[in-house]
Amino acid sequence: MSKKFSRRDFLAFLGVTGVVAGCFTIINYSAEGEQVELIRPPGAITEDDFLATCLRCRKCVEVCPQGIIKTVPLEYGVKLFDTPYIESGICIADFKCIEACPSGALQKITLEQYKIGTVEINPKTCIFCFLCISTCPYNALDTPRDSEGKLIPRTPPVVNVEKCTGCGTCVPKCPTKPSSLTVTPKNARRIKVGGVIV
Ligand code: SF4
Ligand code: SF4
Ligand code: SF4
Repeated sequence: MSKKFSRRDFLAFLGVTGVVAGCFTIINYSAEGEQVELIRPPGAITEDDFLATCLRCRKCVEVCPQGIIKTVPLEYGVKLFDTPYIESGICIADFKCIEACPSGALQKITLEQYKIGTVEINPKTCIFCFLCISTCPYNALDTPRDSEGKLIPRTPPVVNVEKCTGCGTCVPKCPTKPSSLTVTPKNARRIKVGGVIV
């Protein structure tokens, strides 16, 4: 039987395990405390289908050259147990995980379709150094400017949500400790069975 976790249990678990310390963060859970939203590997089909299709074979974990794909521990509940997710690190979008997936849980995508999440910047800790901007391989970060093109002081870089792929490259380049950049699963492109991107 699936173990149910309260919001308090879940937060306590995060604190104990240090899961939130990574540059990727598990966010969102239902009031029942069962559903957590995870950063899935590239090409992942929509969540319900993913849970029904993924074989928990760990082939994606084994082939990832960056070693960034982890599997969900039992503490998150039987439904999510052993499914792959990205906790922290940099995804280089070589799609080795997709090639290795035998089940169709990860579907072939183009680089243009690649989007596993979106970065967020903490305005309370950002020191406005703009070091992250030049590190983004997708040109998704920019300086904050007003309508006349003047730099807006004491304001974090602007994230172009359409361009940001959630790759995580910018996260370790931030000099604050912890990084002021966090990748979340927001706006991730998931594939519907049949090939439609959502
Ligand atoms: S695309 Fe490559 S680096 Fe990114 S998660 Fe898959 S195997 Fe790892
Ligand atoms: S390779 Fe595919 S089926 Fe196997 S664990 Fe990864 S996503 Fe699931
Ligand atoms: S997560 Fe990747 S794509 Fe998004 S802003 Fe950072 S470096 Fe750019």
